[in-house]
Amino acid sequence: MACGEFGPGRMAEPLEIVAAIEAALAEPTVLPLPKNSAAAPKSGKALAGKHVLVTSGPTHEAIDPVRFLANRSSGRQGHAIAAAAAEAGARVTLVSGPVAIADPQGVATIHVESGRDMLAAVEKALPADIFIAAAAVADWRVAEVGAHKLKKKGGAAPALALIENPDILARVAQARSGRPAIVVGFAAETENVLDNARAKLLKKKCDLIVANDVGEGTGVFGGKTNLVHLVSKSGVESWPSMDKAEVAARLVQRLAAMSERGQ
Ligand code: C5P
Repeated sequence: MACGEFGPGRMAEPLEIVAAIEAALAEPTVLPLPKNSAAAPKSGKALAGKHVLVTSGPTHEAIDPVRFLANRSSGRQGHAIAAAAAEAGARVTLVSGPVAIADPQGVATIHVESGRDMLAAVEKALPADIFIAAAAVADWRVAEVGAHKLKKKGGAAPALALIENPDILARVAQARSGRPAIVVGFAAETENVLDNARAKLLKKKCDLIVANDVGEGTGVFGGKTNLVHLVSKSGVESWPSMDKAEVAARLVQRLAAMSERGQ
């Protein structure tokens, strides 16, 4: 307002400004919850009443007290799935390897280091209605863990003998009793993604494999997005690249629908 008394640009009355500041600084109003809302079952939520067990992150396999074998998994996708399942009303247990991200809210998170620790924690957390193995469990561990830090001895480097870790996914999927109704595995591959995923589905006997290409340049490890293919006995469904939280939400919807169909 260049001149005159009215028009855009005119300062509001000082008392109006003070009132607006006081309103902005005031404590937020907390409305009372409707009766019994805290205890009310989350009915209407897709996974209400279900126990969902998720593994996530890498595992660390000790070489000696200060060194370990590990992989590039960030845990982002597994943690997002646990969060989405909790959001859908499930009771969620997350067994996480060492990661640099926070525990998801509303999820009982158990922290482990090695593949064998992860298996023990999973067995303790069972039974579950849905098991989702999103962890990048080390396939091998060091056969003989050094009791003390290995020293350079001026000669040849130590030869690390490796032995296979227990396959948590296969064990859960092939349990004689108490098998979760739905068992989901992941297949992070750098080549022949779909063929490898189909082979894993049959070999491990799971109901669904979430396959993705983690080869160089895909940016999946540690990144925020993921491009996945859902491989089941009925075929392959490829999703476009999307945020890991969105992959998680869609996957949870899919599992809820499968669970409803009684699969
Ligand atoms: O055989 P591969 O390691 O590629 O299989 C990947 C799937 O198997 C993932 O779902 C992973 O969580 C699971 N897995 C497991 N225990 C292992 C190895 C893999 O649960 N020791």
